[in-house]
Amino acid sequence: MEIENLSKEIRKKAFERKEPKTPEQVGASWYNDDLTYDGVAKTLFIILPTPGCAWALGDSGGCTMCSYVSDCTLEPIDTETILKIFHEHLSRHPIAEEEKISVKLFASGSFLNPYELPKEARDEILKTLVNLGNVSEIIVESRPEYICEEYLDEIFEIIGNTLFEVSIGLETSNDYTRLKKINKGFTKKDFENAVNLMQDLKERKNYNIKSKAYVFVKPILVSESQCIKEAVETAHYCESIGVDRLSFCPATIHSGTVIERFWRKGAYQPPWIWSCVEIINTVRDEISIPSLLDTSGFGSRRGPYNCKKCSKELKHIIIANNLTQSKIEYECDCKNEWLAEINNSDMNFSTVEIKHIQLY
Ligand code: SF4
Ligand SMILES: [Zn+2]
Repeated sequence: MEIENLSKEIRKKAFERKEPKTPEQVGASWYNDDLTYDGVAKTLFIILPTPGCAWALGDSGGCTMCSYVSDCTLEPIDTETILKIFHEHLSRHPIAEEEKISVKLFASGSFLNPYELPKEARDEILKTLVNLGNVSEIIVESRPEYICEEYLDEIFEIIGNTLFEVSIGLETSNDYTRLKKINKGFTKKDFENAVNLMQDLKERKNYNIKSKAYVFVKPILVSESQCIKEAVETAHYCESIGVDRLSFCPATIHSGTVIERFWRKGAYQPPWIWSCVEIINTVRDEISIPSLLDTSGFGSRRGPYNCKKCSKELKHIIIANNLTQSKIEYECDCKNEWLAEINNSDMNFSTVEIKHIQLY
């Protein structure tokens, strides 16, 4: 398992270079408008302090693009500390002013894994949110192996008919890319079983449960044109099995990751913003479920890029259109450069832009 060994080696070095964070340093929150199942509404985002993703802390070394674990404590945190930090962040935002809000809880891994977030802390957090009286949606993230009936029963026992969305990092419907290039460690079948279980619980137990898939745009060893094709295929696949929403995450280079190693060696570059626009426009044309495009890192040295002139402007348009679900209409001269690269990458399968080839 070449990719696992490389992930482990790079992760180990990253841990040696960096001190783990304290629970207080991990906890974070922000509050703004987002697209909910009920239209645009205020959404509270909270990063809960956790030891880090069990997949990254275990023998696998974790996914090739992810550095979440470097932002965690690496050690289990007691329930009391987690709750103290959660309440402190909850009190920072004027959430009581709204009739309805959505809450997104990030665990830098799997919210449903009791090792990462102890059951007592999870239950208390959910109880607190339900008791606020205006939380209409609770969104969490989890790997498929923790999505089981027992945990969902425990959760719905507390939240009643509050909408509960579980987002899963499927990344791509292509098993080879997910397993060998992303080192994700689960198959399309595992993802499907998790989505099927949620649908089954919706029908059998009347749970107000939804699923979302994260789609990663441009893993290592994937060319510019291939990354567009795979993302669109993944969206079709997700719709076909009944996933409720999609969120596209274009690659940004985080430190201490395999993707960073490839990038430093000139064997990788993040996608063009034009590729992301192409994906979201195609998906909004061909697919009926809501689709979001994450703009983290857009226009930065380590993120998706276009020319200096249009990167920033496009970022604002994309954020605004995530709320309206409309297509991105925009033109800039650099689009021709992108088109040339797309055609090139079809011929030479390069994963980076070929600037100049010396022939003799
Ligand atoms: S992408 Fe998700 S599963 Fe993979 S290492 Fe990061 S947090 Fe863990
Ligand atoms: Zn441009």
